[in-house]
Amino acid sequence: MGQQRVQKITSIGCELGLGARQRAWVEIDLSAIKHNIRELKSLLFPKTALMAVVKADAYGHGAVTVAKTVIEAGADWLGVATVPEGIELRSSGIESPILILGATYTTEQIEAVAHWQLQPTLGSVDAARLYSQTLKDNLPVHLKLDTGMSRLGLSWQQAIEFVQLVHNLPHLQIASIYSHLATAESLDQTVMNLQQQRFETAINQLADINLPVPCKHLANSAATLTDPSLHYDLVRVGLAVYGLYPATSLQSAVNLKPVLQVKARITQVKTIMPQTGVSYGHKFISDRPTLIAVVGIGYADGVPRNLSNQMIVIIRGKKVPQIGAITMDQLMLDVSVIPDLEPGEIVTLLGIDGNEQISADDWAKQLNTISWEILCSFKHRLPRIAIEKIG
Ligand SMILES: *Cc1c(COP(=O)(O)O)cnc(C)c1O
Repeated sequence: MGQQRVQKITSIGCELGLGARQRAWVEIDLSAIKHNIRELKSLLFPKTALMAVVKADAYGHGAVTVAKTVIEAGADWLGVATVPEGIELRSSGIESPILILGATYTTEQIEAVAHWQLQPTLGSVDAARLYSQTLKDNLPVHLKLDTGMSRLGLSWQQAIEFVQLVHNLPHLQIASIYSHLATAESLDQTVMNLQQQRFETAINQLADINLPVPCKHLANSAATLTDPSLHYDLVRVGLAVYGLYPATSLQSAVNLKPVLQVKARITQVKTIMPQTGVSYGHKFISDRPTLIAVVGIGYADGVPRNLSNQMIVIIRGKKVPQIGAITMDQLMLDVSVIPDLEPGEIVTLLGIDGNEQISADDWAKQLNTISWEILCSFKHRLPRIAIEKIG
């Protein structure tokens, strides 16, 4: 890492120079995205396509930049959750196939899907009929079976009737059939095996009545890393693209690099006397003369307030503790171990600095949540700055 040079810096959705790296920002490593796509592809059979899931603004990384980068690195498909997310990608000139993973069920949505050449997920008979009635031209559609997630989709037991119905409805071209796993990151594979069995039963029944579906898919990141028998014709990878593992038990499968870093600048450095309270509620009281630094980032940027008094950050390759309540736009650190610290210096909240690293998994553990939620939590007030490293 040390020898790598920053090749180019661009800002996403924000004029570089006007605020981009002034206060606080999210740094996106495009070379890490490309590395992760290559690693994931190395697990796949040549016939298996890779869909990069870029819903929720690419898990907070910036959808358009991530989408263009994964396509350059060899991703075949993009997955989004909503119609506006698909439109954002199309408006930026992206031509790859885009699957909408969520439900669409109004005529306005259907017209937009068709107009922007997005591909919908049909998870009910009603949705299929409305699509067929609304469409004026043929549209590839993807049928969603519920095999045990109990979220979007028709029960796997109704697969035959569903496929037959859609097959006979005008304007609907069945492009794929898929399902979603509920417990793929779990060490206990009982539920996953049951879901796979149900999926295969449905597929085999369709083949038996001579209604084979051109593309079948089941795997999220965890399943992609777990077992090639879950890959079928396409894998839908989200978290792993962003360089995080769905479970520690899956870390040996491939070598992923975290893509996102969160950084902010120190705005003030000062010494407080012993017995001085810090921040709202005085949840921290100094027990000695303490050098503190004020940092220009807070919970309105997406730093979880529940990390108050528990967060560790990195400055000049050294870990230092955050103290007192995290406020809306600012937080404080105990920087007594760096006596010559200056305003303007950079604090790494998530990411790597020197030999130290803080990951979304660390925050997730502290907050009793999952890394997916941590990645999605950074607000648009933080400019996304793309960097690309060369080796
Ligand atoms: C979000 C999502 C994925 C990606 O899941 P990861 O665990 O982030 O890889 C795949 N498929 C569907 C249907 C999804 O909603």
